[in-house]
Amino acid sequence: MCTVVPRNDRFTNLYLFFTMNYPHKQSGRSKERPYYLIDNGHGVETPGKRSPDGRLLEWEWTRRVARRVAEGLRAKGLDAGLLVPEDRDVPLRERTARANAMEGACMLISIHANAAGRGEWRQARGWSAFVAPNASADSKRMASLLAKEAERLGLTVRRPMPGQDFWVQNLAICRDTRCPAVLTENLFMDNKDDLAFMLSEAGIETIANLHINAIVRSLQVWSFLGTTT
Ligand SMILES: [Zn+2]
Repeated sequence: MCTVVPRNDRFTNLYLFFTMNYPHKQSGRSKERPYYLIDNGHGVETPGKRSPDGRLLEWEWTRRVARRVAEGLRAKGLDAGLLVPEDRDVPLRERTARANAMEGACMLISIHANAAGRGEWRQARGWSAFVAPNASADSKRMASLLAKEAERLGLTVRRPMPGQDFWVQNLAICRDTRCPAVLTENLFMDNKDDLAFMLSEAGIETIANLHINAIVRSLQVWSFLGTTT
């Protein structure tokens, strides 16, 4: 999808962005029916951010996964869309402004590919979830559900300590957004074994499904718990 908006007017940009991408914006969503903003890391012009052999480009791969997640959620009757439908690298400030312009309940999941080195093959591998230091209970619960689902689908989950499903890091996309937000690092693109799985159809399917399943699960758990966003 490509969004064409005039360049010089931030408010016009934001307005057009929402009317074009979130037609359900005015539907009065509640916490029982939040809008899921799926973010994909980086843009076509972001330097680095690729596997050492160049077969995986993070911006392109995360868009593929994010699209799959958003489509999968919509197929299950949930409201979901891409925070960045463009291919270009939308700055973090604009990403967070888009998320914070949402009306009603929403949740943001930012999808990334991890790297341990700077362009060389490394040993580190596995899946991990991150929240910001100011994360709400719902962000933490979501991160935990994502980690448990990743594990259930056979991925190795990296934990800061046993029993803790997510890492706390000062990430702007999570810290500066008002809605609950989790960032997922979906395996290491500079580990040969992880990369092979990430590039396979089974890998993309598994990683998309872990997000879809965890979100569906969160709705079951949260309506039970009766929490706020
Ligand atoms: Zn990234």
